[in-house]
Amino acid sequence: MSRSRPLRTCVGCRRVDDPGALRRYVRTGHGLVLDEDRRVPGRGAWVHPDPRCWDGALRGGFARSFRTPIRPDQIDRPPFG
Ligand SMILES: [Zn+2]
Repeated sequence: MSRSRPLRTCVGCRRVDDPGALRRYVRTGHGLVLDEDRRVPGRGAWVHPDPRCWDGALRGGFARSFRTPIRPDQIDRPPFG
């Protein structure tokens, strides 16, 4: 039997996926941080660990998700590499 699981939308490619296939970023007072353990409180944005998705996130995906401009120097490391 399959249980329904919550899905998240990648801010890079906008495809819906299982949270296990995505990485979570949280907006904090220090900018966007990669939330490895998914324990950081606050509003999160999800992105695939894929350079194309990361590029899309930097090009407006994060800003759209958080409804505010996000400068590149406010963003933690990429979710890959
Ligand atoms: Zn994606």
